Amino acid sequence: SKQLRLILGDQLNAGHSWYTEKSDEVLYVIAELYQETNYTRHHVQKICAFFAAMKTFAQALKSAGHHVLHLTLDDTQDFASLPELLTHLIREHNIGHFAYQLPDEYRLRTQLSQFCDTLSVTSSVYDTEHFYLANDQLGSYFKPDKRHRLEHFYRKMRGEFNVLMVDGEPLGGQWNFDSDNRNKLKAADLAEIPEPLVFANEVGDILARLKRHQVKTMGQADEHLLWPVNRVQAKSLLTFFCQHCLPSFGRFQDAMTGKLIELGEDRGWSLYHSRLSFAINAKILSPKVVVDAAIAAFEQSQGAISLAQIEGFVRQIIGWREFVRGIYWANMPKYAELNHLQATRSLPAWFWTGETKMRCLSHAITQSLTFAYAHHIQRLMVTGNFCLVAGIDPDQVDAWYLGIYIDAIEWVEMPNTRGMSQFADGGIVGSKAYAASGNYIKKMSDYCGDCAYKVTETVSESACPLNALYWHFMQQHHTQFASNPRTKMVYSNWLKKSEEDKQAVLKRAQYLLDHIEQL
Ligand code: FAD
Repeated sequence: SKQLRLILGDQLNAGHSWYTEKSDEVLYVIAELYQETNYTRHHVQKICAFFAAMKTFAQALKSAGHHVLHLTLDDTQDFASLPELLTHLIREHNIGHFAYQLPDEYRLRTQLSQFCDTLSVTSSVYDTEHFYLANDQLGSYFKPDKRHRLEHFYRKMRGEFNVLMVDGEPLGGQWNFDSDNRNKLKAADLAEIPEPLVFANEVGDILARLKRHQVKTMGQADEHLLWPVNRVQAKSLLTFFCQHCLPSFGRFQDAMTGKLIELGEDRGWSLYHSRLSFAINAKILSPKVVVDAAIAAFEQSQGAISLAQIEGFVRQIIGWREFVRGIYWANMPKYAELNHLQATRSLPAWFWTGETKMRCLSHAITQSLTFAYAHHIQRLMVTGNFCLVAGIDPDQVDAWYLGIYIDAIEWVEMPNTRGMSQFADGGIVGSKAYAASGNYIKKMSDYCGDCAYKVTETVSESACPLNALYWHFMQQHHTQFASNPRTKMVYSNWLKKSEEDKQAVLKRAQYLLDHIEQL
């Protein structure tokens, strides 16, 4: 009998074993769905990227001889949800078997498994064949509620997949080169930053469709989308990265600059980062293809790419990316409710406009609204840090991150945001809260020089808000962090202050929190 195979928008893996054989008995379905456009308020470029990539993927499957039904929002508007659409298609096409690949999001995985329970036809579910670890391996690496550590997992992964290893030992005799990395960009470095490779994918029809169906979005878009939406583009971005960015990837991984954007130059927003996250998360590229290409470039570079650079990159993909996925699945659905620090404040409205006098935040948010992108340190140490020290409700922080970034899908967004950045999981994903004062921003960026606030001051009217908020946060969660070896030292500095000084800092912090919308 005829089989319907569902392909979700983030399952665009052309290498999946589904496609090795062609059959007239198999109908592939790729559908734009209203339910996917409104489970959070998405950046408009993010929806454009997914819809454009889905269309291209459908076309590619068709040209390869498969039977494919590509449905737009216009075609699916009468169906309130994915199950309703599928029920209709199963009837209309006389389907005897329903198959799908395991969704990476809890929301969709639950929806589809419940749908299958009610089906009168048979059904089956497949692995996505995308990650290093197959879905059914996760349980042996990750346990619910357990505090897992990246470093331990990462070393295991290196060994198991034989990545940058020699005779069972890490290449270069060291697992971690962080001390060689993490430089600030000096003025002379700015001229070297490569112009990012961008694309110009026509998305005018998608934008019109979003308007027609009154999809609420955020951020800016024009008719030309700069993100890669097919395998050829994704691969050329990967090649570009290996050639132009990988040689300095680790070195400037944590650096930030506002200078280039102010000069009207487009080079400052992604620096030496790969911008491959959308292509990888949509499964257009597999993590293995990316890692193998980067290692090949390293090996052929005759020393131009140092071990510290490639190790830093590999760590993000076989380490962090696989790690947060394991944490997500071991702890969902409970993870989405965790609020360990009991943060309840509302996200200030300027997160949706970028209109704040704090230059680091204004820059990170404006850039996110413009490009649907910010790099890791902007997400963790600028926007994330502000939310952490200001005590913003993690539900609101999650919703913002889940919407705004081109690569935001819950399985990867949530452990990073709620866990790593907001410490709302109480340390399941990370060993400390990534709280920082303005001094960290000063160390890693050129923002503070021209900021309306003074990073060297804490209690004055023009003092950097992050300073007082940081101390307020540390004081408030004293019992939590004073015994943590990674934060213990901070308290000795706080305790050295006189009672009067402490009160002045806390008073300033309270003033800032009371006027959070005006910062
Ligand atoms: P690069 O710096 O070039 O890194 C290469 C690749 O490594 C990335 O493409 C990504 O696949 C992977 N990677 C790097 N860091 C991480 C990480 N911490 N977790 C998982 N994968 C990682 N990443 C997402 O893909 N989706 C998200 O929704 C997301 N939300 C985040 C929220 C917060 C608060 C923080 C701190 C980080 C978040 N990240 C998320 C991780 C990281 O910031 C992005 O993967 C990265 O910025 C994407 O840009 P890039 O491709 O240029 O990355």
